[in-house]
Amino acid sequence: MFFIILNFYLLLANSLSFVNKNEIISFNEVKLDEKSYLSLNDISSKLSFKINYNRVLHKLSFSYKEHIVLFSSITDDIIINSKLIPYKNAIKFIDGKFYIDTDLFIDYFTKLFNINYLNNLIVIDPGHGGQDEGAKIASKKVYEKDIVLNFSKILKEKLIKKNLKVILTREKDELIDLNKRIEIANTYKAQAFISVHANFSKDNNEAKGFEVYYLSEKASDTHSHVVAIAENEVFKDQNISRDEHVASILKSMYLSSHIEESTKLAYSIYSETNKITNTRGVKKAPFYVLAGTYMPSVLIELGFMSNSEDLKNLSNNKWLNKLAESVADGIDNFMKKNYRSNIK
Ligand SMILES: [Zn+2]
Repeated sequence: MFFIILNFYLLLANSLSFVNKNEIISFNEVKLDEKSYLSLNDISSKLSFKINYNRVLHKLSFSYKEHIVLFSSITDDIIINSKLIPYKNAIKFIDGKFYIDTDLFIDYFTKLFNINYLNNLIVIDPGHGGQDEGAKIASKKVYEKDIVLNFSKILKEKLIKKNLKVILTREKDELIDLNKRIEIANTYKAQAFISVHANFSKDNNEAKGFEVYYLSEKASDTHSHVVAIAENEVFKDQNISRDEHVASILKSMYLSSHIEESTKLAYSIYSETNKITNTRGVKKAPFYVLAGTYMPSVLIELGFMSNSEDLKNLSNNKWLNKLAESVADGIDNFMKKNYRSNIK
């Protein structure tokens, strides 16, 4: 049975904010055994649905629009629209009120209620690090891992000035494995994930400019295909079955809605960077780092280290500041449109 009564453990915490098209809605949050729960009674009254509890069968259920949700206290199962989700301690029953596990609510129920968790958090992922130098010009001791970390720190400051919260997947020169990068973004439930890289063309030193990518099973063109192979290279030893991994994730319905949002994020960044620099456009390719995140995710290539003009810019903080400002504008516009539109 998952309904337990332990009211002395109940600590009134704060409230968590969610957003639908027109307004911000906050739900009361409590901490129980160091875990966060939201008041289901509060949610039901604010979203106008009724909770039914069958005391004989220990079943809690509610319906919202066309959706039907059932919690069984005997099996620890949740049934959402006849789909079974095993989940331990999903519901707590305290002082005659029901509380739902916050992680569960954010992961499964926000979609159902058509709301988004509003934490204004962006995760920036400076690519490579440590022994993985990324692209390099060894003779000049210029490494992609340093360029992208420097840019990511500048971008972080720009986003903070726009009242967004930022976490970097790495703050220093160290190798963070793929799963860890994805885990950081998913654990903190970031609202956008930006992986930062710099390009290198082995056979064309004329190629130059900024690029923004979103995830796709197939690359949009030969160049995008080559870029994805180069950026995925480091992950080949990390127990990832290369082709199946991206393909299987892309099949999940859950991600497809995020790809739609990722496309919007990519175009939002592109429309700003295009004002200040040669932007090669929005492209798509199968990048592993984008395949596991549960939020709008893009990968940006700041410029070509193989092009002398781009390389000069990539080593120039004044230029990087200008580029970071436009990328930050693109992210901020996306956040406003997707999460904060019509909100005063
Ligand atoms: Zn890279």
